[in-house]
Amino acid sequence: MPLLCNLHLLEAKNLRLAGELAAQELGLEQVDELVHAHQPLQYDLEAQQLADGILVQGHLQLTLECECVRCLKPFQYHLVLKRWACHLPLQGEEKVLVVNDCVDLTPWLREDILLAYPQHPLCKPKCSGLLIKQTGKMKTPVGSETKKVSSAWAALNKLKL
Ligand SMILES: [Zn+2]
Repeated sequence: MPLLCNLHLLEAKNLRLAGELAAQELGLEQVDELVHAHQPLQYDLEAQQLADGILVQGHLQLTLECECVRCLKPFQYHLVLKRWACHLPLQGEEKVLVVNDCVDLTPWLREDILLAYPQHPLCKPKCSGLLIKQTGKMKTPVGSETKKVSSAWAALNKLKL
């Protein structure tokens, strides 16, 4: 179910919209290969009717499963929009689509959540990344030492002979 705001109910009084919205509803599955939204968005909003539109404001919170861009370690990122606000015009060229007295808030939520997405997710600010250089250095000496050892044995064998 998308998050709908009923204009008919809103005429009488301000509406409180609180609950959870599945990440699939927001279309967040394929956004970023290092950032995954498995948990639902938690919202606590108040909608208010204005002369020419609706004002929706409140709190949004979404826990994202990220992978660090440097070391690929999985970690959680808490995306919080404390004072989210959105003005939806009901008149003029920019007016929002009204279906059965309802306005779908989902695309507006999605847009601002994407703007707040971590662009460069790091497990910690000073993550040093994978230790590729050290691993690389270790491999080379191991190989050359093995050769040295085997040639040493070959030399010993020659001596024995
Ligand atoms: Zn990291």
